[in-house]
Amino acid sequence: MRSTTGTIVIVGGSVAATTASDALRQQGHDGPITVLSQESYAPYVRPPLSKAVLKGTEPVESVFMTALPSDVTLRTGARATGLDADRRRVLLADGEEVPYDGLFLATGARARRLGSSPGELVVRDLDDALALRDRLAIARSALIIGGGFLGMEIASSARSLGVEVTVIDRDPHLVRQFGRRLAARLTAAATAEGVVLARAAGGVELLGGGEEVTGVRTGSGTVHEADLVITAVGCRPNVEWLAGTGLASPAGVCVDSRCRVRPDIVAAGDLVARLHGPGGLRRTPHWANALDQARVAAAALVRGGEAPIYRPRPFFWTEQWGLDIKIAGEIRPGTELSVLDGSLDEGGALVQWTLDGRPVAAGTVNRRVPIGRLHKLAAPAPAA
Ligand SMILES: Cc1cc2nc3c(=O)[nH]c(=O)nc-3n(C[C@H](O)[C@H](O)[C@H](O)COP(=O)(O)OP(=O)(O)OC[C@H]3O[C@@H](n4cnc5c(N)ncnc54)[C@H](O)[C@@H]3O)c2cc1C
Repeated sequence: MRSTTGTIVIVGGSVAATTASDALRQQGHDGPITVLSQESYAPYVRPPLSKAVLKGTEPVESVFMTALPSDVTLRTGARATGLDADRRRVLLADGEEVPYDGLFLATGARARRLGSSPGELVVRDLDDALALRDRLAIARSALIIGGGFLGMEIASSARSLGVEVTVIDRDPHLVRQFGRRLAARLTAAATAEGVVLARAAGGVELLGGGEEVTGVRTGSGTVHEADLVITAVGCRPNVEWLAGTGLASPAGVCVDSRCRVRPDIVAAGDLVARLHGPGGLRRTPHWANALDQARVAAAALVRGGEAPIYRPRPFFWTEQWGLDIKIAGEIRPGTELSVLDGSLDEGGALVQWTLDGRPVAAGTVNRRVPIGRLHKLAAPAPAA
């Protein structure tokens, strides 16, 4: 766009969108900024939804972000349903057309569902979390499908409320996300709390009728039943409103090295897919990624090719079973974990993962270590 005075429209209402509005001002954009969010709430953060909000240990109000700057217009209940990129107009559900000079795509992702019944519970937005919290208060048992970090966080929260919990996954729980050793530490903590971890290599079929999901049947025919069935099986990018523009595929919105889709349109966060390996597209639906991409994309919208390029610095955290875990870098298949300090089994630990002898990730379990140090341990600077 290379202008500091045109109108910028940001579509989305969460961390990528709010970071974008701040970053655009920091980049010297003086023109109008409008944030179009389909939510009925002001912007809030999602990570506590599966943790403190579900457990009821933090007031719900704590999830709301600080207000946007007074010179940024936030429109809630404004759902984008289409885009006319040639005429530079965002189309809203009520038929209104919102013109822009520069457009910021930040519509994130939604929970991937296994079926279409409202009885299949998910945790993606605030209403999901509040509804599940109310259901957990009176449920005796919960079945969680998906043993990744989100499913295990929900399991941990549900168990802390006294609910009997079973978590079913196709693969060994948490191994893909954390590698064998740390996954073993976490799953041992889960089973010590009385949680049942079950495998269903062939996936599951939801059981029940109408508005109810009463259980699942695994590929081998085993039936699991529970008061609540919650799925945590990944997320899908919110790109349907971009249909027909050629700017998105079911994998997400593909961006260049500065998070640009085209010179007047940028994108950041959970809806962005980046090239990964030959011909592959991959999204990184983590908080830190949304934040970092939003800053780069905002700079690119204002400064074009003079903006810095995006250099991924993977980082994420999780809290479950009383363990607070932070990880910088990427744990890939075949990585080996070494404990640099402390112990994985008691107290806390600083750990590093290597692949073919080369560090690729570093993390902490119940330890406070500056994130910058973790990034250095994950990817040490080459020797001079
Ligand atoms: C329960 C939960 C726990 C998590 N915990 C962690 C964690 O511990 N650590 C971590 O690193 N990450 C965590 N994440 C992931 C992290 O929250 C996301 O990566 C982050 O929220 C992505 O931000 P975003 O702005 O790109 O997208 P989103 O947060 O998905 O926000 C997109 C926004 O756009 C709005 N929108 C969508 N479509 C439209 C439309 N057509 N028109 C207008 N508005 C629209 C949506 O309503 C939403 O407000 C968690 C996610 C969830 C759901």
